[in-house]
Amino acid sequence: MNLSFNVEKIRQDFPILSKKINNKPLIYFDNAATSQTPICVIDCIKDYYEKYNSNIHRGVHSLSDEATSAYEDARNKVKDHFNIKYSEEVIFTSGTTHSINIVSNGFSKILTKDDEIIVSGLEHHSNIVPWQMMIESSGAKLKVIPLMENGELDMDEFANILSLKTKVVFLNHVSNALGLINPIEKIINMSHEKGAYVLIDGAQSAAHFKIDLQKLNVDFFTASAHKLCGPTGVGFLYGKKELLHRMEPLMGGGEMISDVTFSKTTYADLPHKFEAGTPNISGVIAFGRALDYLNEIGLEKIENYENDLLDYANSKLKQIEGLKIYGESKNKTSVISFNIEGIHSYDIGALLDKFGIAVRTGQHCAQPIMDHFGVDGTVRASFSFINTFQEIDDLFEALKKVKSMLS
Ligand SMILES: *Cc1c(COP(=O)(O)O)cnc(C)c1O
Repeated sequence: MNLSFNVEKIRQDFPILSKKINNKPLIYFDNAATSQTPICVIDCIKDYYEKYNSNIHRGVHSLSDEATSAYEDARNKVKDHFNIKYSEEVIFTSGTTHSINIVSNGFSKILTKDDEIIVSGLEHHSNIVPWQMMIESSGAKLKVIPLMENGELDMDEFANILSLKTKVVFLNHVSNALGLINPIEKIINMSHEKGAYVLIDGAQSAAHFKIDLQKLNVDFFTASAHKLCGPTGVGFLYGKKELLHRMEPLMGGGEMISDVTFSKTTYADLPHKFEAGTPNISGVIAFGRALDYLNEIGLEKIENYENDLLDYANSKLKQIEGLKIYGESKNKTSVISFNIEGIHSYDIGALLDKFGIAVRTGQHCAQPIMDHFGVDGTVRASFSFINTFQEIDDLFEALKKVKSMLS
């Protein structure tokens, strides 16, 4: 157990943790859906509106300068945190879904009907639907990396479906439904050998460990601020410069142009070409502050502590008879997806709420994974560094009560 990690002190940074739910202290085990927000990030948003609320990149006045430089500082924070080479390779978006749509839209104009794209069977709907839409417009074919029995990707099958026809491979770094960590280094290298580009959806992974994008040599990467202690409605897309130059923007409007007449518009340079309209300025600045916060604690410490929580939760939950865990592997983040025999996942989640415990139930935006396991949903408890071992004991006791009440 990790005694050097002062979780009680960290918990004081999160005002929401003093809230009561159904007269019980809130136990928040839905971190994979959205993380809670520390006071420094909340203050950062408040500060913006109180002290320098102004539109960016346009004004000649001082407030606008201040807002612009805070916004561009945040871009540099993302660049440094993920070890990206050029700041113009960081595009602020409304989140992972928006980022993926930028790439799928860009490629829909580049691909032809002889091309193939590959997605994994472990995907969030946001990494399936945009590609299906893209296929309809380009005629390219979609191939899927199948899952092995425990939910891990079948890498032999990946090697089989990967070919010189493959143009793009899309997959998440960590599955949101199961917490499985995919072997992305291997997938990126194998794909590059065939000349295919790779987009990694890092919405789940970025909160748990440090990611070095230059070392990974990945072509596109995306994450959402609200899963990284930041605000909702903000995220970023990283793309290699030469690829971003080749792609058409998803949205047209102000900020993204260099010259407009009614006959022709030329696009602005990167990253502005992909940032049409007034962005979520306070959100972007607060996203930068959230990354600072995570780095002040240290992602390595966070990772170790969360692994300890996961081990502990695994050993506790397995003591409950009839409880089945999906996606067991040693390569996992702190997520446990489970069912209890004879009880519907929704009923478990609704009763846990009576005990003040927040979990997610259902398909977790990943219906193909549920189909793979032959279930219509699971209960997902996702732990983060704000959780305690005591809370896992409380979950264990609550689940025993739920079981005796419902079975
Ligand atoms: C949450 C999530 C998304 C979607 O993120 P948004 O912020 O809702 O756009 C996509 N992929 C994965 C793996 C996720 O966990």
